[in-house]
Amino acid sequence: MLDAPKNEAILAYSPGSPERAEIERALARQAAEVVQIPVVAGGRRLAGSAVQPVVAPHDHRHVLAHVQQASGAQVAAAIHAAVDAQRDWSQWSFEDRAAVFLKAADLLAGPWRAKLNAATMLGQSKTVYQAEIDSACELIDFLRWNVAFARELQQHQPVSPSGMRNSLEYRPLEGFVYAVTPFNFTAIGGNLACAPALMGNPVIWKPAATAALSNYFVLELLEAAGLPPGVINFVPGDAQTVSAGVFASPDFAGLHFTGSTAVFDALWRTTAEHLPSYRNYPRLVGETGGKDFVLAHPSADVAALSTALLRGAFEYQGQKCSAASRAYVPASLWPAVKARLTDDLATVKMGDVADLRNFMGAVIDRKAFDRIAGYIKLAKESDGAQIVAGGQCDDRTGYFIQPTVIEVTDPNFVTMREEIFGPVLSVYVYADQYWPDVLKLVDSTSPYALTGAVFAQERAAVVEASATLRFSAGNFYINDKPTGAVVGQQPFGGARRSGTNDKAGSALNLMRWISPRTVKETYVPASAYPYPHMR
Ligand code: NAD
Repeated sequence: MLDAPKNEAILAYSPGSPERAEIERALARQAAEVVQIPVVAGGRRLAGSAVQPVVAPHDHRHVLAHVQQASGAQVAAAIHAAVDAQRDWSQWSFEDRAAVFLKAADLLAGPWRAKLNAATMLGQSKTVYQAEIDSACELIDFLRWNVAFARELQQHQPVSPSGMRNSLEYRPLEGFVYAVTPFNFTAIGGNLACAPALMGNPVIWKPAATAALSNYFVLELLEAAGLPPGVINFVPGDAQTVSAGVFASPDFAGLHFTGSTAVFDALWRTTAEHLPSYRNYPRLVGETGGKDFVLAHPSADVAALSTALLRGAFEYQGQKCSAASRAYVPASLWPAVKARLTDDLATVKMGDVADLRNFMGAVIDRKAFDRIAGYIKLAKESDGAQIVAGGQCDDRTGYFIQPTVIEVTDPNFVTMREEIFGPVLSVYVYADQYWPDVLKLVDSTSPYALTGAVFAQERAAVVEASATLRFSAGNFYINDKPTGAVVGQQPFGGARRSGTNDKAGSALNLMRWISPRTVKETYVPASAYPYPHMR
């Protein structure tokens, strides 16, 4: 039976609250310093072969940290340390390993909370609420729930008829896991490293360059909780250099990846090329891109729909893999939805996340800014698309892109199909009677299948959408926005080109990091070979 922990409560940061005073102090402290982030191999802090700055996306002249870039030799040293650490770590009892992560969760819920949230706000340009639900609540939940799921998992044992004892030993993989993590969630960074480690695997953790600050603080948190050296090795650096070292090692046993589909494809191909040199078949777990939909039925509630579109598409600047990025709205509702959405958007404040009145910050870096601005430009130049809100991009101080709504006449317009990963929502308005055709359109327009939502008050429409869109999303929402999955409540992940759907923050994910051994002990073994039928 699952001994389910409670989800960490979200703090409100209202004016006058103690948490607000604390986050303001942490923001001021971190804004005034430049953190030196080393390569950490076997617990040793190393200077790399080069240094890269981490800047605040909403104020790109503000350098927050310098990150050492691992050399090839340091990658090899980290792998050596990982393989070395596994002997001890995997012999620890499960409860001893679990205690490290449970302690980390408690530290994060208490004295480390403001530090992690401030780093996520400054380094990844999250508002305080977006940071709180990520680097505090979600990471705490991952740490606590994974322990609960792993305990439950290990209770599954085979039967032992009289005269023997059968057991399943939940061994880790033989080798190390490569955790390659995205910029957009501090919690995902931590979880991709911690989930395999909890199950007894050592880890090489390559953080995204732009999230290195918060991710390094996660490593420090784990060290403060008693994680032994070498179990999680922090290896920032050039992705090609780090990957070259990892994939050349016969001890590479698993990849725990979250990021874009193209990168996961490349890592899968590289694994395949090296396959015969590995001691084991590596486990490949990847959660990748999305083109997440909101489908409204003519019976949808307008206020609920337009609120879900605004929050679902624009919170954290649309940089959530689950963010609503294409919507299908019936013509009968569109005028009211459009009016409400554009009125609300006119009140949305965007700017420095240290100003807690803002609803949005900046997009992560120059590359993202240029990519998103390119899609907006395409829409402006196209006859088949019209900008109905936003559309301005300004990179003078930070990488700011206005929340942008594009109304398209062609449901296959490029912004309806491709992942943009920014604050851009495309809307296709359909004639009400075409609802059944629109269901098919939603299913077939993009290669992804991560999240999706249907809005309808008629139950029959919900039933029909749920059936027709069964394979269109790994996380399907009814009358709610497609973002905001909570650990333990909505296990997260999608199929098709959105990943291997191993559901982060669930027992399904943890099962990928174990290689069970079956043990049979016979109390009184046979002492002669003939069977009765041979008499
Ligand atoms: P990204 O693919 O650019 O980077 C992800 C990680 O891969 C980073 O650490 C990056 O440095 C690394 N990387 C890049 N090239 C590599 C290589 N050749 N070898 C090894 N590592 C390499 O993605 P991102 O911009 O950090 O994140 C955005 C993407 O992540 C979006 O596509 C989004 O949908 C996806 N995402 C998916 C989920 C999910 O659960 N499905 C969650 C969050 C983000």
